[in-house]
Amino acid sequence: MFGLLLFCTGYYITAGISVVIGYHRGLTHKAFKLNKTLERILVTLALPAGTPIQWVGNHRAHHQHSDTNLDPHSPIVSGFWYAHNGWLIDSSNPFICLLYALAGPLRFLIDAWNRPRTNQQHVHLAKDIAQDAYYRLLGIHYIYLPIVLFHVIIPFGFVFSLWQWTGIIALWATLVLVFNAGDSVDSFAHLYGDTPYKNESGARNNKILALLTFGEGWHANHHQFPRSAKLGFDNNLDVSWHIILFLQKLGLASELQKPSAEQIKSQLKQ
Ligand SMILES: [Zn+2]
Ligand SMILES: [Zn+2]
Repeated sequence: MFGLLLFCTGYYITAGISVVIGYHRGLTHKAFKLNKTLERILVTLALPAGTPIQWVGNHRAHHQHSDTNLDPHSPIVSGFWYAHNGWLIDSSNPFICLLYALAGPLRFLIDAWNRPRTNQQHVHLAKDIAQDAYYRLLGIHYIYLPIVLFHVIIPFGFVFSLWQWTGIIALWATLVLVFNAGDSVDSFAHLYGDTPYKNESGARNNKILALLTFGEGWHANHHQFPRSAKLGFDNNLDVSWHIILFLQKLGLASELQKPSAEQIKSQLKQ
C-alpha cells in the first residue's frame, strides 16, 4: 500500500507542477525562460487543464479584468460555484458543479470532448502561444481528445493492475484533490485570506491553498506582481519557486523575474 501512496503523491505533484510551472508562471506570465523541451513536456502533462492557447487566453483575461463582468471566473461577480468550476461547463447550478468537482476520471472524459470546443473567447490574448506549431496541434479536438484520454487510461490501468479497486478509489480521490486545489485558486483565493497591498484587488493570500497548490495560494502577491516567478514573499513557502530555482541550477530555467524588496514595500498598506 506504500507503493500506492507514493504513486498518488507523485501524480498529485506532477499534475500540479505541470500546470503551475508549465501553464501558469511559464507560458502565461513568462516569469522565466524554460528549456523548450521541458516546457513542452510540462504542457503535455498539463493538457487536461485545457488547451495551451485557451488556458493562457482565459488566464490573461482574468488578470486584465479581475473581478469585473469581463473576468471569466470571479466569485465576487458570478458566485462561488461558477468561479470554482462552473465556468468550464457553463453552469452556476451548485449541484451540477459539485458533481463535476467529484467526477475525478469522469471529468477527464467530459473535458476531453469539451475543452477544445468551449471557453474560446479569449484565445486572441494568446497569439504568442498560437505561434508555436506544437501548441496549436495540441488544441485540435481530435488530437486533444486521445491525449487527454491517455492521461486517464494509463494511470488508472496501472493502479488497477497492481491494487485493483483500492487503487482506483485512491487515484480517484487524488484527482478530485488535484482538480479542486487548482479550481480553488479561481474561487477561494478571490474570497478568503488577506491582502497586504494598498491596491485592494479581490485576490487574497491564502496559506492553506498555498500549501496545496505549490505556492499559487499567494494570490494577492501574484495579482500585484503577475510577472514574478516567486509568489511567496517574506520567507513564505512557495514550492514552485524552489523548483524553478533548482531548474535554474540545472541550466533548464533562466531570466527569473521577481520584484525587489523596495518595489514590494512601495505597494504595501501603511
Ligand atoms: Zn486571480
Ligand atoms: Zn496568473
